[in-house]
Amino acid sequence: MGLTGGIGAGKSTVAAICADAGAVVVTADELARQVVAPGSDALEAIVSLFGPEVLSTTGELDRAALARIVFSDDVARAALEDVMHPAIQAAAGRAFAAAPPGSVVVYDIPLLTELRAEKDYDAVLVVETPLPLRLRRLAGRGMSAQDALARIEAQASDEERRAIADVVLVNDASVEQLATNLRPHFEQWADAARLPRDTGRGAN
Ligand code: ATP
Repeated sequence: MGLTGGIGAGKSTVAAICADAGAVVVTADELARQVVAPGSDALEAIVSLFGPEVLSTTGELDRAALARIVFSDDVARAALEDVMHPAIQAAAGRAFAAAPPGSVVVYDIPLLTELRAEKDYDAVLVVETPLPLRLRRLAGRGMSAQDALARIEAQASDEERRAIADVVLVNDASVEQLATNLRPHFEQWADAARLPRDTGRGAN
C-alpha cells in the first residue's frame, strides 16, 4: 500500500499505526539515507556530479552542502533526482520482496503523487490534515509557519492527492480516532494480502 500526504499531514503517525497492526513499513526517507551510505553507487554518482565538497570529513554525504548546491539550481536538482529516485526505487523493491508472505506492506512515500507512482500500488492511502491544524502541529516540531507554507506550496495539493487516493484519512482528531478510522481499510488490505498472489508487483 502506498501511503502519502503533504508535509506534517500525519504519514509517520499512520505508518506507526500500521506497524502496530502488524504491517511491514518501508519508508522512502529512510531508504534515501541508506542508498547514499559510504561506498554506495549513489554516493559515488553524487560525488562525480557535484564534487568532493558534498562529502563530510568522515566520507559521508553532507546533506546541507548538497542542499545548498541544488537549492536554486533546477538542473542540478534534476541530476540529483536522476540518481536518487532509481536507487530508492530499487531499494524499495528489495524491501518489499523481503517482507514475509501474507504481510501488509506499507510504503511511506511523500512524493507518490508528484512522481505519479500510484499505479505501482494495489492501494493508495492519502492522509490529510486541515491547513491550520497542520501548521500548528508543524510549529510543535519547531517549524515556522512561513517555512511550512513554502514547503506546502512546493508540494502537490490536497486535491491532486485526493484524485489518486483509494482511501483518504482526515487526521483532524486524536491519534486513537485516526487508528479507528484506518482499521476497516487495514483489515481489508490484510485480508487481500493473505490471498495467494500471482503477480510480483510492489507494496500492497
Ligand atoms: P513529514 O512530512 O514531515 O514527514 P508526516 O506527514 O510524517 O510529516 P507526522 O510526523 O506523522 O507527519 O505528524 C506531524 C506532527 O503532528 C508530528 O509531530 C505528530 O506527532 C503530530 N500529529 C500527527 N497526527 C496527530 C494527531 N492526530 N494528534 C496530535 N498530533 C498529531
